Amino acid sequence: MELTIGWLYPKLMSTYGDRGNVICIQRRCQWRDIPVKILPLEQTSDAALFLQADVIVGGGAQDRQQEIVMRDLQGAKAEALKNQLDGGIPGVFTCGSPQLLGHYYEPALGKRIQGLGLLDMVSKHPGPEAKRCIGNVVFEITAEPLRQELQAMTGEIPIVIGFENHGGRTYLQSVSPLGKVKTGYGNNGEDGFEGAFHQKAIATYSHGPLLPKNPFLADWLIRTALEKKYQEQVQLAPLEDRLAQQARAAMLKRLE
Ligand code: GLN
Repeated sequence: MELTIGWLYPKLMSTYGDRGNVICIQRRCQWRDIPVKILPLEQTSDAALFLQADVIVGGGAQDRQQEIVMRDLQGAKAEALKNQLDGGIPGVFTCGSPQLLGHYYEPALGKRIQGLGLLDMVSKHPGPEAKRCIGNVVFEITAEPLRQELQAMTGEIPIVIGFENHGGRTYLQSVSPLGKVKTGYGNNGEDGFEGAFHQKAIATYSHGPLLPKNPFLADWLIRTALEKKYQEQVQLAPLEDRLAQQARAAMLKRLE
């Protein structure tokens, strides 16, 4: 078995350290002797490349870089990405990336930018003077069947710890929220929702980066990607996560 990680626009969308998600998936596979290929999906990439990814990772970016990406991600590339995610390829998309998967994003300055419309939601930045949503965030995953699958894997209610830093506010329409905020702002600081979940795609405002702080999500992505690719049940070997667990316990004690 082997895994190809498609990484959305690493040159433009690596402002917030989300490449840690790519490294986390890579290392957790390598520790289990699963070879990994990292496939950067850049402005110069052909749309066909998007179809080679077994799991897709997208990070955060500033409005300007995000706008360049959103303009590039049209036509054949948009179709390829949509086909992948609608077809059940798993992915994790943080902050600026989910904003471009929705119907549109209104940046702090300038005109509304058209998104892919894959997630039924919209994102708006209230303007350069508005307070940014910054700080630690804790939320409980409520999206099904994700919640049940995670609970079966870990025996625990899935609680995510992250760090958010966004000006844009996201408002969900019919798409399911990923979770319910316990501490922090989440999608908009008003409705208590965090992120969105569609097929096997996780959209969230949580940096951290997300996966090293919440290794159960990394393993869910790896398992889901391998099961989809090889069409068989996959049982991942457990890893020694004591340090991560201790860090989580310390953070939860401080934040809840
Ligand atoms: N442009 C976005 C915002 O400020 C994304 C920021 C991010 O990716 N962290 O809302």
